[in-house]
Amino acid sequence: MDENASKTHRVAWQQIGRRGARVFVVVSAWLGDRLLDAAMWAVNLVRDLPLRLGRLALALWAGLVGVVLALPQARRAMSAGPGLRAWLADVPRRVIFWLVLFLFRVLDLVGVPELWSLLMRLTARVTPLTGAEIAAASAILGPTALRYADVRVAEGGLLNLIFRHNQGRAFTTFHTINMPTFGAHQRTNFAILLHELVHVYQYERTGGLYIAEAIYAQLTTGYNYGSPEDLQQCLLTGVCYRDFNREQQAQLVQDYYERLQANLPVAAYEPYIEEMRSGRV
Ligand SMILES: [Zn+2]
Repeated sequence: MDENASKTHRVAWQQIGRRGARVFVVVSAWLGDRLLDAAMWAVNLVRDLPLRLGRLALALWAGLVGVVLALPQARRAMSAGPGLRAWLADVPRRVIFWLVLFLFRVLDLVGVPELWSLLMRLTARVTPLTGAEIAAASAILGPTALRYADVRVAEGGLLNLIFRHNQGRAFTTFHTINMPTFGAHQRTNFAILLHELVHVYQYERTGGLYIAEAIYAQLTTGYNYGSPEDLQQCLLTGVCYRDFNREQQAQLVQDYYERLQANLPVAAYEPYIEEMRSGRV
């Protein structure tokens, strides 16, 4: 073998070595992050146990109160209210709402959100928020609004199947923000990422139930909360941030950010943003 052939051989092996090292680093980082996901299930089981038990207790209490008050309410409906038939017609809706509440409280208690995240993150490319994203979100939501370090953005992989069928709309499952790699809801659109972070915030503040509430909002009143003038009117009539549905809450924050970027007036938004920052969601 002459000297040139030996050199070519050496360079080829060096390239293979470098590529192998890069793959090793990427796979190790991915594996480490998935192990962290598994650990977070156990961590959150313990860390959030008092909060989740408290929410479950409140759900049970609400159910008990509902049962105890059913008879007096039925009597009142018969005498002065909408009538017994209308009251009875509303019973299935209230029972279903309570069952959904109870179900989500139990699922939270056994750490289903973290288990779900663990499985979903195996099927896509998953990365933490960047420093710039955390800084930009902190400026709107507050620096300690949520556990930014626990948030992961999932892109590509099996998610492509979902995005092909939901018009490429980003969505949030607990601490995982699922974003398409095409269209208007890509990660580069920070306003959308911020909207999804509001859902993470809702999750941390109110539990996994926010998912049912957001889906219900999408199917009923939707995202539209009106104009800045409508917001001012809402303020005058005592409507709080938490009175808006989960999607309107996220949209309101997204619009606030976009208006700031466009140098548009935000006075009508600020009282609601303050309420959101104080955790009243
Ligand atoms: Zn949303």
